[in-house]
Amino acid sequence: MKVNPFGKVILPCPVCAMSVDKESVLHTYLVVDYYFCSRQCLLRFKSHPGLYCGNPKSGKSVKQRGVEEIKKRKITLSISMLDDQIQTLNDSIKKLMGIKEVTIYDKEILVTYDLIVISLEEIEHAIEANLSINTSTTNTLKRKWIHYTESCELDNLANPVSKGCCH
Ligand SMILES: [Zn+2]
Repeated sequence: MKVNPFGKVILPCPVCAMSVDKESVLHTYLVVDYYFCSRQCLLRFKSHPGLYCGNPKSGKSVKQRGVEEIKKRKITLSISMLDDQIQTLNDSIKKLMGIKEVTIYDKEILVTYDLIVISLEEIEHAIEANLSINTSTTNTLKRKWIHYTESCELDNLANPVSKGCCH
């Protein structure tokens, strides 16, 4: 068991694997206590616990097996941004868990992320909440399709169908 310099027990956040201590956000699922680095990871865990907890039937979860599902997408904003807005946006996207890389140019945000930790829809919500920028007017249909396919992909990853015989 790992302990930090202040004597607190260190555990990995079940969603993003960052080290957290036992005074962080707590959630109990199937009689087990889990500690999270942030509200973002707690909400993600609650929506898809099967991504992070294994079970006797299907074994370890995708996260426990160290799987990453890297996605690279472009988000187009409805307005161009000024340099200081770009900087603020860049910083707030980088603070999200699961973000690998962000490049912003004018109206376009190129973002690389791990779908096991964060989805495009969650990234868009974070942008809208932090900066009051509306991302919902551009490419609506295409983005809805991406949100849909990502949520199907997560459902499949969270609930693996056991291979072999059925009875
Ligand atoms: Zn986390």
